[in-house]
Amino acid sequence: MLSNFSYVRVKSLQEAIKASAVGGTSIMAGGTDLLGCLRDRVFSVDRLVSIGRLQDLKGISRTADGGLRIGALTTITEIAESPLIKETFPGLAQAASEVASPALRNQGTIGGNLCQKPRCWYYRGEFHCLRKGGDRCYAMDGENQYHGIFGSDGLCCIVHPSDTAPMLVALGASVRVAGPRGNRLVQVEKFFVLPREDVQKETVLGKGEIVTEILIPKPPPGLRTSYRKVRVRQAWDFALAGVALALVFTGDRVERGGVVLSGAAPIPWRSKAVEQAVAGRKLDAETTERAAEAAVKDAEPLEHNEYKIPLFRAIVQEQLTKLARG
Ligand SMILES: Cc1cc2nc3c(=O)[nH]c(=O)nc-3n(C[C@H](O)[C@H](O)[C@H](O)COP(=O)(O)OP(=O)(O)OC[C@H]3O[C@@H](n4cnc5c(N)ncnc54)[C@H](O)[C@@H]3O)c2cc1C
Ligand code: SF4
Repeated sequence: MLSNFSYVRVKSLQEAIKASAVGGTSIMAGGTDLLGCLRDRVFSVDRLVSIGRLQDLKGISRTADGGLRIGALTTITEIAESPLIKETFPGLAQAASEVASPALRNQGTIGGNLCQKPRCWYYRGEFHCLRKGGDRCYAMDGENQYHGIFGSDGLCCIVHPSDTAPMLVALGASVRVAGPRGNRLVQVEKFFVLPREDVQKETVLGKGEIVTEILIPKPPPGLRTSYRKVRVRQAWDFALAGVALALVFTGDRVERGGVVLSGAAPIPWRSKAVEQAVAGRKLDAETTERAAEAAVKDAEPLEHNEYKIPLFRAIVQEQLTKLARG
């Protein structure tokens, strides 16, 4: 059951910033994640500020420099179905189409997808774990089959739940954030917070700060993108393991690019080891095998999730091989 809170539907960004800077307030976009958290009493709020009517935060358009601008209130369906995104960054359309179910994609927004709360079952349950201000992580030596194999630092082994975030990191995208002290542009790669930086925060957003848009730089010639997600069932489910690729080819050689794993770590996990293993090379069997090995070299599996190592190895090799074919 939901606890009591007041509800404000704002008409301007300035009003939203002012209203959400007050303690005990949460921004609401589509509400698909937030209302679930409130219903399950993961946390409570005194006030919800709905930004759903802010038209300036909607839509997909080309920027003057040939990149793309996606308003934070653009729905996941709009991203999955946008001809502009399908043509320019097909991997992003693919990632969006892998999110949840059609109904959730119609209601959920890209801003909310980046800012959604973790899915760890202890966190979503009645456990007062480290991330909720408690003194221990229940997953570390508990039921950790869906948890991470990188970046927990022995503190919190959640996996970041978003499918779009890894692709945005691979593409070198940024988010524009508006807040009480003005606007700032943050690279998506720097937007997420590791447990060792602050175990109770998922993003760098401060009080009253709102994501207004996502900016993706102009695609360089030769860019190829893809997103692959493995889940328990082929129904709606979060990634057990996934890989976002945005590689720039010259002929049949990779020049450079981004490789980011999902279902792997508390943040979208950029694998510089894979990026280095493929840079300057043809994606032949030897290179893809070496890259797949590099992807899991520093993995630190827990008691029940060691299966993720061969899984990541396999999907990295499979996706690199597919991308090489064009
Ligand atoms: C059953 C289920 C299955 C799902 N499966 C997947 C999946 O497979 N892959 C995946 O990627 N996601 C999945 N999701 C998550 C889903 O994509 C998100 O719930 C959705 O994208 C959130 O968008 P929203 O607009 O509804 O956000 P809301 O629920 O309104 O907000 C979510 C959080 O983001 C904050 N927020 C929202 N917009 C902004 C903004 N512009 N600026 C700052 N903060 C903001 C809110 O304060 C809140 O904390 C699933 C969700 C459910 C319920
Ligand atoms: S993994 Fe993180 S969210 Fe889950 S129980 Fe541990 S500290 Fe809490």
